[in-house]
Amino acid sequence: MTITEDARALLATGPICDSCLGRPFAERSFGLTNAERGRSLRTTLAMADDDPYEPVDPDDCWVCEGYCGTFDVLAETIVEGLEGIDFDTYQVGSRVPPLFEENEELLREDAGLEIDSGETLKREVNREVGRRVGAATGADVSFDRPDVLAIIDLAAFDPLELEDDVDRVTSHAIDVQVNPAFVYGRYRKLERDIPQTEWPCRECGGTGIQLGDEGEEPCDYCGGSGYLYDTSVEQVVRPHVVEAMDGDEGTFHGAGREDVDARMIEGGRPFVLEVKRPRERSPDVEALEREINAAADGQVEVEGLRLATYEMVERVKEHDASKHYRAEVAFDDAVTEEEFEAALAELDGTTLEQYTPERVDHRRASLTRTRTVYGIDGELRSPTEAVVTLHGEGGLYVKELISSDNGRTEPSLAGLLETDAEVTALDVTGVEGEDEPFEREEFFRDEPRA
Ligand SMILES: [Zn+2]
Ligand SMILES: [Zn+2]
Repeated sequence: MTITEDARALLATGPICDSCLGRPFAERSFGLTNAERGRSLRTTLAMADDDPYEPVDPDDCWVCEGYCGTFDVLAETIVEGLEGIDFDTYQVGSRVPPLFEENEELLREDAGLEIDSGETLKREVNREVGRRVGAATGADVSFDRPDVLAIIDLAAFDPLELEDDVDRVTSHAIDVQVNPAFVYGRYRKLERDIPQTEWPCRECGGTGIQLGDEGEEPCDYCGGSGYLYDTSVEQVVRPHVVEAMDGDEGTFHGAGREDVDARMIEGGRPFVLEVKRPRERSPDVEALEREINAAADGQVEVEGLRLATYEMVERVKEHDASKHYRAEVAFDDAVTEEEFEAALAELDGTTLEQYTPERVDHRRASLTRTRTVYGIDGELRSPTEAVVTLHGEGGLYVKELISSDNGRTEPSLAGLLETDAEVTALDVTGVEGEDEPFEREEFFRDEPRA
């Protein structure tokens, strides 16, 4: 059969619109819409038969029942729904009721065509509405991870009712989803006893309320705040980023975390702040950084803020990192310079066996880890006090490397010196990728800062 014979067979099934007539030939030629394909076939047949040209309005089409006439109005509704939202990439998807798949199969079957010839109504809706949204907004289509996603539910509106009330589409039929946006940076925690993330009080479950004889009263344990600590790195950083991106809420993702009583200084620790439903995706990160640091008032500092991709969250959480530490150590018995130097030389480059420390969450399965001390150095301040600096593999328990944790870490500074040793103050001074830095350009959406 020739293409005109096929078209004649399709038209014989009943009234069909240009798009539905053209769609079984979607693979023929390029740069044409299905409606243009259908219209040319209808024109060709009218001329061949010398019959009057009789177009069919989509509203009268038995295959799409009017939906092929709604592309413009759907695109307009989506563009309206995206008003006030900043985005560079988009995608349009649709839910098409099964009835239309059946109609399309029936159409092809009746005309003697392959049941899957051309393309589906769903693909045409997605492409045609998507094209119009792109033209109206200047955004690029992205199938991977678009900034915004509009899903059309064809079952949620009736094309035949659209002319009276265009807004009928808006409320039910289009779901506009805004994907999260991400800001990467490094934080420093300049004071002790600040957790990285919010730490709700375990006694009251974060409510700040306990039940007393008189009814509800402030929780004794947390003083009614609901939190065990007054603030956290997350609480310092998050509100500013969420506000700068005009989002609904934010989530803090850190590249590991230091103990609450340890400072995080010098090089800082990588983090990503994820903002849900951002209406602004490209805030001025330098201004944001200044704002956070001014408000944090010396407790916390951030630096190197940049706009990051979605992949940066996994990068920060999964990338193997080594840590630099500075520990102040107290010994029970006096230690000589020679003993101290000999013990450090022993630990330098050694691989430790560490049984899960007693202080660590007891719900965590106990096991023995092996971790390498890449480098260690120190200075004896007095016979019973020292400062130790070290660079260790990720996951190394530093307090236990010093104390031995009752023999659960082997070797240890305490074990080698044959005296009790304890970390009295711990600082993390750097967190860096084992194989390569965290900050690879492919994980950023903006240009490197000068
Ligand atoms: Zn149609
Ligand atoms: Zn409480």
